[in-house]
Amino acid sequence: MARGAWRGLSGADVLHIWEVGHDLPSGERALLVLAAAAPDAAFDELARLPLGARDRALLAVRTATLGSRIDAFAQCPACAGALEFPLDTGPLLAGSEAGGRPQTMRTGGYLLNLRPPDCRDEAAAERCVDVASAEAVLLAACVCATGDDGGPVPVEALPDSVRRAAADAILALDPLTDVSFDVTCADCGCGWSLAFDVPAFLWQEIGHHARRLVGEVATLARAYGWSEHDILAMSPARRQSYLAWAG
Ligand SMILES: [Zn+2]
Repeated sequence: MARGAWRGLSGADVLHIWEVGHDLPSGERALLVLAAAAPDAAFDELARLPLGARDRALLAVRTATLGSRIDAFAQCPACAGALEFPLDTGPLLAGSEAGGRPQTMRTGGYLLNLRPPDCRDEAAAERCVDVASAEAVLLAACVCATGDDGGPVPVEALPDSVRRAAADAILALDPLTDVSFDVTCADCGCGWSLAFDVPAFLWQEIGHHARRLVGEVATLARAYGWSEHDILAMSPARRQSYLAWAG
């Protein structure tokens, strides 16, 4: 989907996502965000987004909702000092939109057709009870194996070494899944690459945003008797102006 397809979330969207997503795994929460930000898109189209493209889309929604600046926090791996620094989503979003492509590889006498995991695969893996079954679900979805005789081989029948190679390969197929920033500690000078879990970060922000909105609605409803619907329909600027008079 084109980058411009994503709109910012309204206050009502944020509260809906927060409420519905509360008990869902991370991947399904991410799909809730995308569905709200692209209401005209078919859900199946969203669910088929490779995970790297999904993460870029989430950052585009975040940027359209709250701007491109992120106030990030990290702990220095060398001196354990707490770092606070700004990040800009702009360079990430300006990069290539080309995600992972299907590939073939030969290993251990098998020909493997591989594709990068998408949102459906992640959701299925997240419902598994342990890591081994999650990996089996991903392999079954993303790998088609052919043996020496040209016949299909079920993924579960592949030798462990081939399954391991296939698991590593499908995760490396999509370069956009790597969302990381170079960080330098101001105290000790240590530099490292900070991996950024986009869905987890966004969910945390949605939680903060939703709790703030609930507080604003409560204050305005008490002061003026307005409904939640009417308060959320206001622009943030108008809401803030009324809050200043709510005493
Ligand atoms: Zn340090």
